[in-house]
Amino acid sequence: MTDTSDLIGIDSLLTASEIALRTGVRDFVDAEIRPNIARWYEAGEFPLEIVPAMARLGLLGMHLEGYGCAGRSAVDYGLAALELEAGDSGLRTFVSVQGSLAMSAIHKHGSEEQKNEWLPRMAAGDAIGCFGLTEPGAGSDPGSMTTVARRDGDDWVLTGTKRWIGLASVAQVAVIWAQTTGGVRGFVVPTDTPGFTATVIGQKLSMRASIQCEITLDNVRLPAAAMLPGARGLRGPFECLNEARYGIVWGVLGAARDSYLTALDYAQQRLQFGTPLAGYQLTQQKLVNMAVEINKGTLLALQLGRLKDAGTLQPHQISLGKLNNCREAIAICREARTILGGNGITLDYSPLRHANNLESVRTYEGTDEVHTLILGQHITGIPAFH
Ligand SMILES: Cc1cc2nc3c(=O)[nH]c(=O)nc-3n(C[C@H](O)[C@H](O)[C@H](O)COP(=O)(O)OP(=O)(O)OC[C@H]3O[C@@H](n4cnc5c(N)ncnc54)[C@H](O)[C@@H]3O)c2cc1C
Repeated sequence: MTDTSDLIGIDSLLTASEIALRTGVRDFVDAEIRPNIARWYEAGEFPLEIVPAMARLGLLGMHLEGYGCAGRSAVDYGLAALELEAGDSGLRTFVSVQGSLAMSAIHKHGSEEQKNEWLPRMAAGDAIGCFGLTEPGAGSDPGSMTTVARRDGDDWVLTGTKRWIGLASVAQVAVIWAQTTGGVRGFVVPTDTPGFTATVIGQKLSMRASIQCEITLDNVRLPAAAMLPGARGLRGPFECLNEARYGIVWGVLGAARDSYLTALDYAQQRLQFGTPLAGYQLTQQKLVNMAVEINKGTLLALQLGRLKDAGTLQPHQISLGKLNNCREAIAICREARTILGGNGITLDYSPLRHANNLESVRTYEGTDEVHTLILGQHITGIPAFH
């Protein structure tokens, strides 16, 4: 039978263990996410009840070593992200925020005590984490953040506002980035600390099956040991963002593949003017363009994954992958929606839901413009951010 999404034998570049991991996640998505996602999306609900199953699959902090984490490769992590996002970007975002942002921050920059306290519980899904970098006035330029951590005796006292922070209202722990007299530093903040408040952002038209919040930090008092000892300056959060950006390079291809396959199936069934839509040249051109970009994007993701596993992946290469794959994936989802006609605007079909989600994905972890500027600086040697 023709594999209508892998037209160039990309699977032959994967190991048996990678394919087995992918099959496991795909089965989970088919069983647990697909039957329920329209309901969750319409209700604007993140399904906390599926977290234990994701933990059992080893998806939380899956690329991290030790502390109860699965220690899988970067390619394994990418394949899992792709399958999850074929279900919904909101579910892949949960795994990214938990594993690539909150857990990575503690794993990369934390003390032994912080790692032992939080990582095993987070890998098991018993504790949820969030990552607070963005503020109402500081998005693409996190260096302009105004959240401040000041010393008071041995303690730290945090004051400020964070915005768009995934999972904050259901998290037990927050990694919060703040200005200090020594530059930007990260803090591990239990969310039940007095002065910490997370308010859910409502009325979203994108990422409805996931949670984002505004956090207020009103004189949040923390012990000296709450600071992440290994993160100094913006390099600290940026190293975590690169982990999440890498996952997105793969993840968005899942949304694209699901939209393409949905449109292909529909076009083969749906008759207009006495012929299946798939029989018209204009429709075939749409489907072919989608398949071509999915195949190119998957090769790109796999190359970045192999570089990451070899320890040589560079930030500008992640930017290239995130820029290209988000841009192509959103175009594919929108084009797939046109093939579905009027039915395509309902939650009975996935492409418009995916396209709406990808509006967020192309915005967070660096917008198209930010990644263009990173690549522009790499190519020309001239920074054009200011
Ligand atoms: C669903 C969702 C989840 C998120 N999760 C998190 C999270 O868990 N933790 C967290 O810390 N943040 C999170 N974010 C925040 C996200 O990272 C920011 O939205 C993003 O960095 C962009 O910032 P901004 O929204 O303030 O837009 P702005 O930075 O204000 O940008 C607005 C527009 O201006 C453009 N622009 C900015 N600077 C330039 C320039 N120099 N040249 C040209 N154009 C420019 C941008 O590309 C964009 O098009 C999330 C956001 C969303 C939507």
